Amino acid sequence: MAIILWTVVFAALGVASAKANWKSLNSTLNGALVRAFPVATPCHVPINQDACDIARKNWTNQFWRAQQPGGYFDLNWENGDNLCDINGNASLPCTQGLVPYYVAQVNNVDDVKKAVKFAHDHKISTRVKGASHDFLGRSSGNGTFGISTIKLKGINFVDSYTLAGAPPGASPVSVVHVAAGEHWIYVNRAADAHGVIVVGGASYSVGAAGGWVLGGGHSNLSPQYGLGVDNVVQFEIVTPDGRLRVANRYQEKDLFWALRGGGPGFGVVTKVTYRTHPAIKAITAMLFNATYTNASFTSFLREYLALQPTLSAHNVSGYSYPTANGIVAQLLVHNSANLTALNSTLKPMFDLAQSETSNGRPAKVETLGGVLPSYLSLFNDDPATVNERAAGYAILGSRLAPASAFQGDKVQKLADFMVKSPFTVIMHLVAGNKVSQVAGDATAIHPSWRKAIHHLVLAGGWDNSQPLPTRNLIRSALTSATQEFAKFFPGFGSYVNEGDINEPKWQETFWGSNYPRLKSIKNRYDPRGIFTCFHCVGYED
Ligand SMILES: Cc1cc2nc3c(=O)[nH]c(=O)nc-3n(C[C@H](O)[C@H](O)[C@H](O)COP(=O)(O)OP(=O)(O)OC[C@H]3O[C@@H](n4cnc5c(N)ncnc54)[C@H](O)[C@@H]3O)c2cc1C
Repeated sequence: MAIILWTVVFAALGVASAKANWKSLNSTLNGALVRAFPVATPCHVPINQDACDIARKNWTNQFWRAQQPGGYFDLNWENGDNLCDINGNASLPCTQGLVPYYVAQVNNVDDVKKAVKFAHDHKISTRVKGASHDFLGRSSGNGTFGISTIKLKGINFVDSYTLAGAPPGASPVSVVHVAAGEHWIYVNRAADAHGVIVVGGASYSVGAAGGWVLGGGHSNLSPQYGLGVDNVVQFEIVTPDGRLRVANRYQEKDLFWALRGGGPGFGVVTKVTYRTHPAIKAITAMLFNATYTNASFTSFLREYLALQPTLSAHNVSGYSYPTANGIVAQLLVHNSANLTALNSTLKPMFDLAQSETSNGRPAKVETLGGVLPSYLSLFNDDPATVNERAAGYAILGSRLAPASAFQGDKVQKLADFMVKSPFTVIMHLVAGNKVSQVAGDATAIHPSWRKAIHHLVLAGGWDNSQPLPTRNLIRSALTSATQEFAKFFPGFGSYVNEGDINEPKWQETFWGSNYPRLKSIKNRYDPRGIFTCFHCVGYED
C-alpha cells in the first residue's frame, strides 16, 4: 500500500520532484509531511462522511481553515477555478486545485530547517502558508511543496529586550516575540493582559507574524504608531539555504530591510519581534451609516471625500465604504475620549445631510458614537464565533492616495468614479502622520506609503455558481478599473497585500524605487528561486 502511495506521489510531482525522497523527509519530520487537499474534498466522491461533517461544520471558520494543510481563507486560492464546494455536486470528485500536493506541517524550527533544506537541495518550488489569508494566492500553488507554519505558537513579552548583535550600551526595547503561527486576536488579548498594545491588523484571524508584516501591515493604530514594518524590530527566519538567521538593525541588515515590505520569498519566518506601546486608555469610536435615496448622494460622498485630509489631520483612522446609496464607516481616534471633537470634525457632512433633509430630500445619517476603554474592546467577539466571511471568492485592486487627491476639483471626479464603480471601494484611513515620518527607502514597502493618507481598495468577486468565462470577465474588469483608478493618484503605488495579482507593472506598482535593491537581496538569499511566486520579488527571472 505504502509503495503504491509513494509511486503516485512521484508521478504527481513531476520529474525534478520525483528524485526527491519524500518518504525519508516524512520520517525526518516525524510524520509531519501530510497529503493536502481542498477542504471540501471528503464531501465529494469518494465520500468520507465523518471528515465531510467536520468540513461542513467549519466551512467558514477561518481559524479552522488555517489549520488545514489545504485550507485557505479565500477559495480562489484553494480551488482555483476547479469546483470543490461544500455544497457542490458530490458525485463529481474534487481536483487538487491550487493546493500543494504535500505539506510539511512543521512543529518546530528544526522541522522548518529540514523542510527548507529538502526543498533547496531538490530545487522544489515551495510555498509558505501561515494563517492562509492571502488575497494574491502566494501561499498556494499547483505542483508546489507547502510548508505550513500554523503550529508554531508562542507570544512572549519582554519588557527590556536587547536585540541580537546590539553593541554594548544599546538601549533595550519593550517587545513581544510572536511565533509564525499566531493570529492577531490572540496577540491582542495577550497584550491587553500584559498592559500594552501591539500595532496589528484589524482582523481577528490574519497572521500576526507572516504575510501581514512581510507586506507592510496596516492597522487603525498606524497613523499614531506606524505600520507593522515600522514596529517590527527583529525577524527569525530560515533562509533558503536551511540556516536560521536573526535579522535586525545590527545584523543581516539587508535581509531585515527586505523583510519589511518585500513580501514573501526570502525564506520561512519563524518568529517576529515587535515593539510594544503603553496601553491605550480611551478610544473615541464612531460608527455611522448614511443612506440616500436620490441622486444627490454623489454630493454627500464628495463631502465625505473632501473631509479625509481633515480627518487625517485630526488623527482619525478607520475604514469606510460607499454603498449603492450611502456610506458606512467606522472611525476611531486612539488615546482620546472626546466624542464632541470627532462630531465637530464630521460636522460639514452632518450639516449637508441635515440641509438635504430640511429641503425634503430623503437623507438619513445614523451614528453610534462612544468612548471605548481599551484597544482590545474593538475585538469583543468570541474568536470561535467570529465570521470574517472566509470561504468566498474575492479579488482586489488598490492604490495609495495622498491628501491632495481629496482636494479641489479632483474630489468630484473621484466621487463620480466611486459611485459608478462596479467594484466596492473600501477606504482605509491607515496612513499619514506617523507613517509619513519615515523615509521612503527606510523599509522595502512602496515609498508612496510615506506620502499617502489613504489606502483605497477596489473589491470584487463571484460565487461558486459563476462559470469560468464570467470569472475571467470579472478579473479583467477589476484590472481595468484599477488602472483607471490609478490615474487619480499619479506616482502612487499599491499595497502589495491588498493589490491586484494581475497588475501590469507589478514591480513598479508594489515596490517602486525599492524594487532593484529588493531583487538583488532576493538573488543573494534565494539564488535557486525556491520561494519565488507569481508577481513576487524575482518572479521575472
Ligand atoms: C479578513 C482579512 C482582513 C485583513 N485585514 C488586514 C489589515 O487590517 N491590515 C493589513 O495590512 N492587511 C490585512 N489583510 C491582508 C493581509 O495582510 C494579507 O492577506 C496577508 O498576506 C495575510 O497573511 P497571512 O500570513 O495571514 O496569510 P498566508 O496566506 O498564510 O500568507 C500570506 C503570504 O505571506 C507568506 N507567509 C506567511 N507566513 C510566512 C512565514 N512564516 N514566513 C515566510 N512567508 C510567510 C505566504 O507565503 C504568502 O505569500 C486582511 C486580509 C483578510 C483576509
